[in-house]
Amino acid sequence: MAKEAVSIGANTFQFFTRNPRGGSVKQLDEKDIAAFIDFSAQNGIEVILAHSPYTLNGCSADEKVREFANNVMKDDISRLEHTPGALYNFHPGSHVGQGVDKGIELICDMLNGAMYEDMTTTILLETMAGKGSEVGRSFEELRRIIDGVQLGDRLGVCFDTCHVYDAGYDIVNDLDGVLEEFDRVVGIDRLKAVHLNDSKNPFASHKDRHEKIGKGSLGIDFFERFINHEKLRGLPFFLETPNELDGYAEEIKLLKSLYRN
Ligand code: FE
Ligand code: FE
Ligand code: ZN
Repeated sequence: MAKEAVSIGANTFQFFTRNPRGGSVKQLDEKDIAAFIDFSAQNGIEVILAHSPYTLNGCSADEKVREFANNVMKDDISRLEHTPGALYNFHPGSHVGQGVDKGIELICDMLNGAMYEDMTTTILLETMAGKGSEVGRSFEELRRIIDGVQLGDRLGVCFDTCHVYDAGYDIVNDLDGVLEEFDRVVGIDRLKAVHLNDSKNPFASHKDRHEKIGKGSLGIDFFERFINHEKLRGLPFFLETPNELDGYAEEIKLLKSLYRN
């Protein structure tokens, strides 16, 4: 993964910890991990972002699904300790009709069961578009999760541009205002990573369909402002756009051409 990232001009990458639609996991390969750490040091990879599987829903109404989520999160965290200092992003979950209060309570239970004092991984809550019963559709909901977790001061946030716009935060016309609101509610220092995606849908659509950079409702001018913003420009950016490898290489090139050094 690291070699592929470097081959397309990246200095970081996001990866699924296991099958994104299931749960099966590959055995850890100690030699591969050592090679990765070595390669990263030589090629300027300072941070990587792990993404939990989509099937992880810690606030499901189904106890079996919750149990799966709790186990996967614990297992992912223990595996990530082999690459110290990683970021681990997850979708807070969908409360499936139980209500947002219950959802948040269950998500906090999962995090309280999985986080521990000496862990080196930083867990990130992803900002969600608010489709269906998704929790994390507002900065306030993220704040409530942080407040409900014993080691909440260690939680970060991954800011997904498509999701935030779909959720109804107008980052196109008022990026400064949205970032101020984020700072007021969550704290800007919690912002540890960005999912850089355009959106196929209009503002506040709650749809969550990613589009290629500059080809959707956010537009290329937005991305130029966003990646150069003084509060954002130092963050790691991750593309989740509908592309194959060569498409990602093109987008990285495009973004680098817009980035003011
Ligand atoms: Fe995600
Ligand atoms: Fe995302
Ligand atoms: Zn998405």
